[in-house]
Amino acid sequence: MKRVAVVGAGISGLATAHYLRQGLKAAGKSAEVVIFEARGSPGGTMRTAREQGFAMEWGPNGFLTNKPYALDLVRELGLSARLLRSSDQARRRYIFSGGRLHRLPETPGQFLGSALLSVPGRLRVLCEPLIAAQLLEDDETVAEFARRRLGEEAMEKLIEPMTAGVFAGDPDELSLASCFPRIHELETRYGGLVKAMVRLRLERLRRGARAEMSAAPGGVLTSFDTGAQALVEVLAARCAKQLHLAAEVEGLGYRHWKFQLAVRVAGTRTQCEADAVVLAVPAYAASLLARPLDEVLAAELGRIPYAPVAVAAFGLEASSLGRPLDGFGFLVPRREQRRILGALWDSSVFPGRAPQGKALIRVMVGGARQPELARLPADELLALAREELRSIMGMPVRSVLERVFFHERGIPQYLRGHGKVLEKTQARLADLPGLFLNSNAYRGVSLNDCILQSQLTAEKVLKGL
Ligand SMILES: Cc1cc2nc3c(=O)[nH]c(=O)nc-3n(C[C@H](O)[C@H](O)[C@H](O)COP(=O)(O)OP(=O)(O)OC[C@H]3O[C@@H](n4cnc5c(N)ncnc54)[C@H](O)[C@@H]3O)c2cc1C
Repeated sequence: MKRVAVVGAGISGLATAHYLRQGLKAAGKSAEVVIFEARGSPGGTMRTAREQGFAMEWGPNGFLTNKPYALDLVRELGLSARLLRSSDQARRRYIFSGGRLHRLPETPGQFLGSALLSVPGRLRVLCEPLIAAQLLEDDETVAEFARRRLGEEAMEKLIEPMTAGVFAGDPDELSLASCFPRIHELETRYGGLVKAMVRLRLERLRRGARAEMSAAPGGVLTSFDTGAQALVEVLAARCAKQLHLAAEVEGLGYRHWKFQLAVRVAGTRTQCEADAVVLAVPAYAASLLARPLDEVLAAELGRIPYAPVAVAAFGLEASSLGRPLDGFGFLVPRREQRRILGALWDSSVFPGRAPQGKALIRVMVGGARQPELARLPADELLALAREELRSIMGMPVRSVLERVFFHERGIPQYLRGHGKVLEKTQARLADLPGLFLNSNAYRGVSLNDCILQSQLTAEKVLKGL
């Protein structure tokens, strides 16, 4: 019987295995799918710590419903009853600027009335429809695009913090087309952002759908009753017999028309043969494994850097809060020169994340902006986050619980030229039939994107079997 080995059991590896098994069943084919995960538990970054009634996410707190992939997977798994929709107030987001929190405008009217941008800054944004679309040959950075279309102030106060919020990244380094392909498409297809919003709104009205025109990301942030980990738990349970935990793949070779995997399980090295291998691991891990097969491929993969992120979680007495947690949380632009990227007011976003009478706030530290801060010892990091919360939110932080979750290589950075890196890796993979790459390092970091890429990868694997 043929065998497919999936290396890594984060959402990308687990979803790939799920779609592989589903595809095999649908095609009436038989093949074995085995999954190797280096850690003792599945899920990768998707992990929920439950303590004293708090549900604290290590990484993602959910997915948006503006893309269908996560929701479709949830339905297939029979998990719909466990879905948790974020509260309506979670659409309210704040930006810290000039010493206070400003509500991020959600409508054109709110934008005009908001003091977040100065009058010239707002007028510059209003000029956006007049800026001709530029179809550049070069891969433009997020910052170049934002400055060109929206102006410097909107770039610094809106786009830079948003980029830090999604990628923990630096907009002066990141590729617009790779990080935010939809925004790139709005210019190339409709000629600009406002033109696109108007055209899309009209299209929606024509279809009879509710027309929204909002600065907040579309869709509803959604998670699960017990936290984001629920999704990976159910996926892992479905393939429990084929999932090998604490099994690190240390080497990959190719001999006698088969891939040879060297796997370390409980200190012992074992060998596994496979007809196809999906590397659902971060790019740096894929680079190490691919080196014996193709040095050029390994070098390209090694060019995808990661930004470190630390998440400091604070469980608080709700009565001790200096202000209502009436939104999703806030982001801090780099021009404010603070030591945190932002904070998520988790207990206001989803019910059940904190016990009755308590609140949960998670503070993001580090990123490409201040990588050294994400590597501080836990007590220093907590002290720093506490102090920043106190100063930004104007409240003492008397916590009943404090935890830090470290992601040393947290989020891949799609730098300018990322598309070329992908083209080269694809060209090298064409000479290595049976080897596939699938993780958040390539075509999107959101859970929706990881799930879509897993589905596409499974289809490619099945075609080759
Ligand atoms: C702080 C933070 C907040 C986030 N928030 C959101 C959010 O709200 N919404 C959203 O959509 N996305 C969010 N993301 C992004 C999202 O969580 C990730 O992009 C996604 O979980 C990545 O999944 P993955 O399977 O590709 O990679 P990973 O989760 O990194 O999984 C890779 C797995 O491979 C394993 N592995 C590595 N090397 C080997 C080896 N040699 N052998 C065997 N196993 C190996 C690792 O142990 C790991 O389990 C967030 C990310 C972070 C860090």
